[in-house]
Amino acid sequence: MILPIYTYGQPVLRKEAKDITPDYPELKTLIANMYETLTESDGIGLAAPQIGLDIRLVVIDLDVLSEDLPEYKDFRHAFINPYILEYDEDSKKETMEEGCLSLPGIHESVTRPTRIHVKYMDEDFNEHDEWVDGYLARVMQHEFDHLGGKMFIDRISPMRRQLIRGKLKNLLLGRFRCSYRTKVLKK
Ligand code: ZN
Repeated sequence: MILPIYTYGQPVLRKEAKDITPDYPELKTLIANMYETLTESDGIGLAAPQIGLDIRLVVIDLDVLSEDLPEYKDFRHAFINPYILEYDEDSKKETMEEGCLSLPGIHESVTRPTRIHVKYMDEDFNEHDEWVDGYLARVMQHEFDHLGGKMFIDRISPMRRQLIRGKLKNLLLGRFRCSYRTKVLKK
C-alpha cells in the first residue's frame, strides 16, 4: 500500500522517534508499505516520521543508483532502532546536494562527514554494529536525522535558509506540486 508523505510543517517531523520492539504490530507489512511508497515517489530513503509514525524505522533503496554506483546493486534494507555512535573525525567532509520527500522542490548543498559508526537492527532484529562510508553514509545521516526530528535544511547556512524561506512557506501552505501523494498540515 502506498502511504502519503508527511511534508514540512507536520509536527511528527520534529519529534524524537522512539525505539520499537519485535512485537510492533504489523511490522513486516509496514516495512513493505514503506518500500512501495519509496519506489512510487522515486526516493532512495524513507524514515517512519515521513509517513506519520514517530518510531525509529528507516528503509533505504540504493539499487536505483546502481547503474552509476554498482556497489549498491540490490541494496534494499530496513534499519530498525538505528543510531550513529560516532563520526570519523579524521575522514574528510563532503558537500553534496540533497533533497527530501518531505521537502518537495527544495535541493540544497549539505556538508557531512564521509564515514560514520552506526548500530541498528535489521528486519529480523539481528544487531549490527559497523563503520559505513560513501554514499550510504550520507543517506544514513540524512535518514537517521529524521528520527531525531531534524531535516537537512537545519544543516544549511543561515543565508541559504533565508533564501528558501518563501519556498518553505509555500510548503506549509500546501502550495506545491509533486508526483506523489502528500499529507500537508491542515491549518
Ligand atoms: Zn528526508
